[in-house]
Amino acid sequence: MKRWPTSKDLGIYVHFPFCRRRCPYCDFNVYRRETIPHAEYCKLILKELDLRMPLLKRYGVDQSPVSIYFGGGSPGLWDPVAIFFIVLGIKRRLGLPKDAEVTLEFNPEDTRKDLLFSFLLVGVNRLSLGTQSFRDKALSALGRHHDAKMNRFCLDAVLDVGYTDVNVDLIWGMAGETLDGLSYDLRTACSHPAVTHVSTYELSIEENTPFGQRAKQGETLQVDEETRIQMDALIQKELTKHRFNPYEVSNAAKPGYHSVHNALYWEMGHYLGLGAGACGFIHGTSPEEIYCGVRTENPKTPEAYAQFVNDGLKGETLQEIDALSYLKESIMVGLRLKKGFTLPKPWFNLLKPRMMQMVQDGLLVCDEELGLVKTTDQGRLILNQVILRLWDALPEAF
Ligand code: SF4
Repeated sequence: MKRWPTSKDLGIYVHFPFCRRRCPYCDFNVYRRETIPHAEYCKLILKELDLRMPLLKRYGVDQSPVSIYFGGGSPGLWDPVAIFFIVLGIKRRLGLPKDAEVTLEFNPEDTRKDLLFSFLLVGVNRLSLGTQSFRDKALSALGRHHDAKMNRFCLDAVLDVGYTDVNVDLIWGMAGETLDGLSYDLRTACSHPAVTHVSTYELSIEENTPFGQRAKQGETLQVDEETRIQMDALIQKELTKHRFNPYEVSNAAKPGYHSVHNALYWEMGHYLGLGAGACGFIHGTSPEEIYCGVRTENPKTPEAYAQFVNDGLKGETLQEIDALSYLKESIMVGLRLKKGFTLPKPWFNLLKPRMMQMVQDGLLVCDEELGLVKTTDQGRLILNQVILRLWDALPEAF
């Protein structure tokens, strides 16, 4: 059973910024390159880790990471030897508990059993698969280059190879999608024996993408609001029926199989962000400093990142996080969790009048004694508005 992290834990995110091609809805920090610099990029990551050690020291963060997350991009394209050296490098510098979660994002189109086995051998113990749907029509509408058969092949392969902790990503809410179609995706994902975790992401249209262009030209790419609400209810129902606990707005897991790394973000834990465009967040550990910290953000392109690391992170401006920004962020991420989050007494009191109004409106549930705040089902559906209403009640500074 994996443990749920706290704000004192540390995680490490490693960004691999290369993909075979760009999906038309994606605005992540990804690039196509003729040749992937496997070894060079690995060396840069380790060099950056060395350069980030003083930051951890400055904030008194000396614990070993509870999670490493290789995200992207398509880190499944990276040579497993590079993953080996990074995991080893982290272990040598910071230690790595035996039960640390090591996740790798992997695209079904790259499935080869020998490759999956190599990743397992070098320390990856959790896969996050970019399946997106189990229907060919939906996959083709999303511009993906794999089909439903490849998704099944991939799931069977990861099971055969011996992975015991596997997430599948599903995208929902594209115009034309029906409740039956979505229900089929959920049933297929939940009933495969390899799957322990399901992420359900509502399709969002990002401005600088081909989908964004199409939307600008007047095309409707998302389902209407009524269907969206029905789909959300269907997701909750299907996941629960299959014994997956929807523990976060977009994430559900079999008991004990939550994502430690993502939970660390929602609990406002420390994380180092290594790699092109990666972001990190380290906060204080002493009682006076706990609600303050710094954010790091690396240059986005692989070339600018290489220059930055080779120059010893020269010119970096750390973004200072004060108590107000910390509180705003805690509200934003904490309300994503079904269990909600705990507000320290002074902050609970500060927000109490607004929260009580929102309890009356059926959007929040609060327990003053525990300092606990969480959304109702109705509140979860309009989460952004709920967050903004709480933010609005915060004074400029306190
Ligand atoms: S594979 Fe993933 S990261 Fe790469 S372009 Fe497609 S959606 Fe974006």
